[in-house]
Amino acid sequence: MQYQNLWAPWRMAYINTMAGHDGAATPPTEQSKACFICEAAKVTVPSDDAGQQLVLLRDKRGLIMLNLYPYVNGHLLVAPLDHTPDLPGMTAPQRADLLELVTLAQSLLQAAINPQGFNIGLNLGRCAGAGLPGHLHAHVVPRWSGDTNYMQTIGRIRVIPEAIQATYTRLRDTLNTLQQTKQ
Ligand SMILES: [Zn+2]
Repeated sequence: MQYQNLWAPWRMAYINTMAGHDGAATPPTEQSKACFICEAAKVTVPSDDAGQQLVLLRDKRGLIMLNLYPYVNGHLLVAPLDHTPDLPGMTAPQRADLLELVTLAQSLLQAAINPQGFNIGLNLGRCAGAGLPGHLHAHVVPRWSGDTNYMQTIGRIRVIPEAIQATYTRLRDTLNTLQQTKQ
């Protein structure tokens, strides 16, 4: 048992992103240059930039991306394009678009990796667990029965960037298939 030696550089990167975010609602100016969702909202999909930033879908409704700091493999983030901290700050059509994309994210995970359940939710404000309080985002987390045991198991192994890129490629392929089926 080597829990204390967990090699988790992605957690360090995450902690580093905490610096400079005070949790206040800010317009997309100086501070939100550091907002990774605003950065992700600038890419077109597919592209090299989209791949690097793990953006699976980006359209006028918002974006779906893989969480670089996942609870489990396949942990998705869904966000509006606008740098908006909470639901009252959005218009009704924006909220409807967000729920459409959350629904698509669930369908995508179901088709790609067949989870047995999901946790879907919003963490609003830092005290509620938001890592990036200025830009609202929904978490869509796939779950399997017994996956807490699984997490303890994978907690002792390396999580490498290639693993997230492989998941990204798989989800992109599945999304293409879903969208072709719809047309
Ligand atoms: Zn933002």
